[in-house]
Order: sequence, then C-alpha cells, then structure tokens
Amino acid sequence: MPVELPDLPYPRDALQPHLSAATLDLHHGHHQRAYVDAVNARIAGTELDDLPLEEIVRTSQGSLFEAAAQAWNHAFYWQCLHPRAGDEPHGALAEHIARQFGDTQKLREEFNRAAMGLFGSGWAWLVQHPDGRLAIVTTRNANTPLTGDSTPLLACDLWEHAWYTDFQNERARYLQSFWKLVNWDFVGARLR
Ligand code: FE
Repeated sequence: MPVELPDLPYPRDALQPHLSAATLDLHHGHHQRAYVDAVNARIAGTELDDLPLEEIVRTSQGSLFEAAAQAWNHAFYWQCLHPRAGDEPHGALAEHIARQFGDTQKLREEFNRAAMGLFGSGWAWLVQHPDGRLAIVTTRNANTPLTGDSTPLLACDLWEHAWYTDFQNERARYLQSFWKLVNWDFVGARLR
C-alpha cells in the first residue's frame, strides 16, 4: 500500500498574508509530493510496502530514510500551522513553557536563535524529552526527532524552499510569519 500525500489541513490560500498560496503549492504540491513519490518508488514490491510512514522513518537508512523522513516532517509541519493568527499557548503547554523558558516570547527568541544558527537546510523543533522537559533542537537535512526518544511538538521547515518564493533569502522574515501561524492547540495536544 503506497504512502499517500496528505491533503493540506486548510485551503492553499489560508495562510496568507504570512505564507502565500504559491509557496504552499510549491512546497506541498511539488516538494512534499516528490518525497512521497520517492518513498513509494523505493518500497514498491518490498516488505516495507505495508509499514506506516513513521515505521519506515524509524527503520530505514540512506535515500529511503531521507525521503521518508522528509515526507513525515512535512506532513507534521503543515499540522503545526493554521490560519488563526495571534493566539498563544494555554493550559498545560503554557505551564511547561513558563517552567522551561520563562514565557512564550523567550521560547520564540531561543527558537529563532537556533533556527537562524542552522547552516544550510534542516528543521527547528520544540520537543518534549522523556523526563517531561521541553527543549529546542535543530536537525540537519531530513533528520527528525522521530528517530530519537523525544516527542516532536512543533516543527519549522528551514529549507529555503519554505520561504524563498515569499521572502527570497530572508530566513528571519519567514520566522516572523511562522510565529503568526503556529497552531498552539496542535502543539499542546502532543504533550505527554
Ligand atoms: Fe520543506
């Protein structure tokens, strides 16, 4: 059974003016689709064919891992965003953030420092360690916390294709838009 390209969780123009429909078309319809197609080309006719995508990410190496991890990372990334700008973390998530970072603004600053400091392509993540603590991590290229012990709560795509159409070379402006789109309900629901 092939891996499927999940639909975007909202219309292609729903993240405007922060991310354009053109960016979503390119990013979801071209880049993410290419990763899904690459996974399917590699698992067709093998014993991996029936595995869920997460299991393929956790058990594969090389070019299959890279395609599978990118397919999973992108599906997760779209769920981390939503069109309702301006809300803030609440409930247990807000308490975890206050304990770990002081407040949400400090979390954003630390996350942005990590995201700006990642050389080349990759991802910035808010994760929850097995002991319950929150942490900000970055991963290079396709790498993903899914292969480790920590639970991914929030992902920010730091490949240039995520912002070049809207912001050219300005990763910092993309990050400003990213924070206006974060779906804190989704992030909070991932807490263990
Ligand atoms: Fe991407």
